[in-house]
Amino acid sequence: MTNTTIKSMVQPKAEHHNQPKTIYLKDYQPPHYWVDSVDLIFDLFEDYTEVRSTLCVRRNTGIAQEQTPFILQGEELELRALVLNGKTLDLENFDLTAEALIIHTVPETFTLEITCITHPEKNTALSGLYRSKALFCTQCEAEGFRRITFFPDRPDVMAKFTTTIIADTNLYPVLLSNGNPIEQGLLINNRHWVKWEDPFKKPCYLFALVAGHLIALEDHFVTRSGRLIALKIFVEWENQDKCAHAMTALKKAMKWDEETYGREYDLDIYMIVAVNDFNMGAMENKGLNIFNAKYILARPETATDTDFQHIDLVVGHEYFHNWSGNRVTCRDWFQLSLKEGLTVFREHHFMDDITQSAVSLIEHAMGLRSHQFAEDAGPMAHPVRPESYVEINNFYTSTVYEKGAEVIKMLKTLLGTDTFRKGMDLYFERFDGQAVTIEDFVACHEFVSKRDLTQFKLWYSQAGTPEIEVNEEYHPKTQTYTLQLKQSCPPTPHQPKKNPMLIPIAVGLLNAQGEDLLENKTQILNLTETEQSFNFPSITEKPMLSLLRGFSAPVKIKSPLSNEQLAFLLAHDSDDFNRWDAGQMLSIRIILELIEDWQKSKPLKINNLWWKAHQSLLEDKRLNTALKAEILMLPSSPYVIEFLDSADPDAIFAVKKFLRKEISRRAKKHLLQLYQDNHNTERYCYSTETAAKRFLKNLCLSYLMEYPDKNHMALCLKQWKTANNMTDSLAVLGILADVDCPEREKILEEFYNRWQHDVLIINKWFRVQASSALPNTLECVQKLMQHPAFDINNPNTVYALIGTFSHNLVCFHEKSGKGYRFLADIILQLDTINPQVAARMMTAFTHWRKFDKDRQAKMRSELERIQKTAKLSTDVYEIVNKCLFGTSPQT
Ligand SMILES: [Zn+2]
Repeated sequence: MTNTTIKSMVQPKAEHHNQPKTIYLKDYQPPHYWVDSVDLIFDLFEDYTEVRSTLCVRRNTGIAQEQTPFILQGEELELRALVLNGKTLDLENFDLTAEALIIHTVPETFTLEITCITHPEKNTALSGLYRSKALFCTQCEAEGFRRITFFPDRPDVMAKFTTTIIADTNLYPVLLSNGNPIEQGLLINNRHWVKWEDPFKKPCYLFALVAGHLIALEDHFVTRSGRLIALKIFVEWENQDKCAHAMTALKKAMKWDEETYGREYDLDIYMIVAVNDFNMGAMENKGLNIFNAKYILARPETATDTDFQHIDLVVGHEYFHNWSGNRVTCRDWFQLSLKEGLTVFREHHFMDDITQSAVSLIEHAMGLRSHQFAEDAGPMAHPVRPESYVEINNFYTSTVYEKGAEVIKMLKTLLGTDTFRKGMDLYFERFDGQAVTIEDFVACHEFVSKRDLTQFKLWYSQAGTPEIEVNEEYHPKTQTYTLQLKQSCPPTPHQPKKNPMLIPIAVGLLNAQGEDLLENKTQILNLTETEQSFNFPSITEKPMLSLLRGFSAPVKIKSPLSNEQLAFLLAHDSDDFNRWDAGQMLSIRIILELIEDWQKSKPLKINNLWWKAHQSLLEDKRLNTALKAEILMLPSSPYVIEFLDSADPDAIFAVKKFLRKEISRRAKKHLLQLYQDNHNTERYCYSTETAAKRFLKNLCLSYLMEYPDKNHMALCLKQWKTANNMTDSLAVLGILADVDCPEREKILEEFYNRWQHDVLIINKWFRVQASSALPNTLECVQKLMQHPAFDINNPNTVYALIGTFSHNLVCFHEKSGKGYRFLADIILQLDTINPQVAARMMTAFTHWRKFDKDRQAKMRSELERIQKTAKLSTDVYEIVNKCLFGTSPQT
């Protein structure tokens, strides 16, 4: 490296974000300069890291002129040297701002060498290069690479990367980056180095680096074309016996993607690293996935069935990104759903294939209705492809991910499985190695199906959840059944009026015996108009309507069915999803009626029809275990809130408690029987079937414990003492957390003593206590924040303790507002440590207008307190302003 006149130029501090900029999709312009390759050298030390980069740059001649400056993003970096084509640049050749390095004039092609200093050891935001205990690791999506070195940090600049990592041999024996390792060696002062080469062009958000004292679980996979791939999962030494499930999941995912989408892996090595401090779930960096440890580590005694399932899904998800995201990536961050919606869709498809039941569909629908519908109805509502953002980190949302996945599911329904697969093949083939848009994706499906999908694309540009009104008529004379559907979509920020969408509606018609009347049982209707009628000829009796089978679209249905008809579908529908859904709708109606009674201080009475319907399901021996468990669960509270204009959490809690107690009292015998039938003392093994049995069994136990008498308590304690797996232990802990009894403290203490050395398990212990409905929960959470296991710098513990509390229906929304004050204080504290985590904690406030006047006022005053605070991060700034004003001031 040539010597330089720049001793060290620290970037000026960013003006605090009182007026952050809004970025618009309509302003997109292709990059002025391409970076064809980048060679990186990292010299890692305990108190700083030096990063040297050599960029081969080429002007985008169609767009940029000779005088167009070369702009590289950078944040919190110290510039040490800047050399262009071997010549050191003087201060008059460039500008250094808080956010960028601007080089005034550059030739058409050139080599740029940059040396800079960064401080991973002080990086608590966990974006860019940072420390997680004794490890160095990175997180670059969306805009973390600019915190590592100066670079045109945008996904459409794709370069070939080589990376050399230099570090202390003893402290960091393992040095990893993307691609394949090509060289290594020793240096003086007990340092060593490894050089990695990634043969595929990639945007810098997919860059990764890991250095540390790690051990790898190794295995291999042979692709269908016969290539041998080395598989390595790196963890800290004490966790080496907890990776087997993740490895099996990885191989399952690799095989499934070959068989289902014809996608083969492309490098010689696939690596996963589990780290403790991580903002998100996991990251799909090319060839080197970095995972939040909770999505890798599992042993029967330490992980629940849900953990095992999440590992399958998250490992699958990140692996599937190798094609949907890495080989074909996004042109700009507005296209985020191009990779995320598509990959969540592929993950759901994978889960459907593993579980082979409607339960996977039910879980997706429940997730969407509990979170995404609320997002669509609130101040943060945005289309699957947003038009603008202040902070892109705020758009890793349920809308972009889950609704984005549902949009692709609809596309598959509309085109049919074979045509959809052809469209996917064409997409991967046509755009391999490119950064593209959602239009490009849809164009491939238009090409193979020869259909005009213009109207369908409204799903990407219109926010809000469409609502469908249904009217039906039967004409016995002509034996014709007519279905009238009317669609509308409520206004959302910046979108007062919506156009009618193309909505695939899956319909079944049943006779009085519950038999399907339509050919192939289910028919797909293409709803395209605001109002549209569909005729069904040759229907010999007045049929029962089963609408939106298999959750064929992410919409709300205003059902014309009576409670009796819903009970009939719950008992008879051949579509399992709709059986469950009819039960949910029926329960929602009963809950809403009871809430009214409760608010008028009327005594609560059980609805006989509702009870009879549930009783017969409890007693139904033929009903699939997993489906039975799903049906016996009451609708989630966030979903109930969807149906209320002025939600009173105390009323919702009281009514659900009343129904649970009634089930417990009336069905005691059957609940006990089901408990015994599904209790298993054999060696634990995770499978969809055994997990369903444990789920149903523990649900029955929780119902029984609505009356914590001597017998039920004994049953609980017996399960506690004999449990050979975390699912069963944690179930007892969760049940007792809600019961004010001496056993509660004893078991919480036993659990802690047994698992105090395992942070992931202690997070479960935090979660259980933070979700308790007992009145002293807030004080308990505040006390736990002083516990040595709680670390405000670690996102997992924050999500477990504070995040869980913020979703605690009764205690967070406690009338005095002290829960709100507590959360606002924490958010302000977190914002100075890790803005992404602070912004995530804001979610509990975003739906403040859904609650009663008194609670609204209290939440509002906390939001105003946050909003008036100086030096907010862009993350929290954007959300708090949208919450209060429906928009960020500049838009
Ligand atoms: Zn993803």
